[in-house]
Amino acid sequence: MKKTILLAISLMTGFTAQAENLCLNQLPSNKVNQLFSEFGKAGKMPSELESWLNDPAVQTVTPFQLFDNVEFVGLCWVSAWLIKSDEGLILIDSLYQPYTDALLKNVEQLGYKLSDIKYVLITHGHFDHAGGLGVLKQALPNARLGMTLEGWKEAYQDASSPRHKDDWKMPTEPDLILTDNQAITLGNTTVTVYTTPGHTWGTTSFVFDVFDHGKKYKAVTIGGLGLNAISGPDQVETYIQSVDKLKKRVLEKNDPITIDLTAHPFSANLMENVERMKNRPSQDVNLFVNQKELVNKLEGLKKAAEDRLVIEKRK
Ligand SMILES: [Zn+2]
Repeated sequence: MKKTILLAISLMTGFTAQAENLCLNQLPSNKVNQLFSEFGKAGKMPSELESWLNDPAVQTVTPFQLFDNVEFVGLCWVSAWLIKSDEGLILIDSLYQPYTDALLKNVEQLGYKLSDIKYVLITHGHFDHAGGLGVLKQALPNARLGMTLEGWKEAYQDASSPRHKDDWKMPTEPDLILTDNQAITLGNTTVTVYTTPGHTWGTTSFVFDVFDHGKKYKAVTIGGLGLNAISGPDQVETYIQSVDKLKKRVLEKNDPITIDLTAHPFSANLMENVERMKNRPSQDVNLFVNQKELVNKLEGLKKAAEDRLVIEKRK
């Protein structure tokens, strides 16, 4: 859909999301969360989840605008966020093949040039978030690709293993190395890097301003949520420290974070909320502004990690 048409719809409805949520019709977020937690406990992926994850017709989502300066260009189960500045675009996460190709088409479908993307920031080195880095290196002539050093290491390591080998395409060498508290600034927009190791050792989170009809909010994309790549109590303890660090940042008095721009849509009922926002009663109502839910989520993650720590210490 052309940007002008989107804008027209936006003016009519006060909201521009135009997601086609076939994925939701198949499996709602709470069901996906439940299946992932069964997967975590049993170590074997439920067949219902496996077929949902591997069906391109279900996973493909029409790109949509969520805030004045933020568009969703990802998949049903993995996010990719496009942040607009007055000097180009910042992309968060690369997806994996063949979906990185679809992501690039999404960007063009929204009316942008691929040469407008100046940064690609990666949350961590798992295939679903970093697998398309090599494709992006080829396709984006003006982009710096950023990840933590540990993230780059885990990406190269996972890319070289037979698991997910078709999903991975890495550049020949790491590009930009992200560090804690680093400010990535592009024109009028800054994304602050918070290293949050735990889900993997290289996991990082990103904090930035978003605007809803001109009103400013602070949002976070939390790098990794699951305890599915844990080896040993040290990593779980580090995970807990990162959750505490994020919670402290979220509740910071002078600059609180109120929006969870999730790395996995099902973990924040993203697609359901997009549907509900189509009937938004007024510009002042935005379901995505919900600090309480974000804090609840972090507390839930901490509780799960504390339970896991007991198990890891017994091993
Ligand atoms: Zn991961």
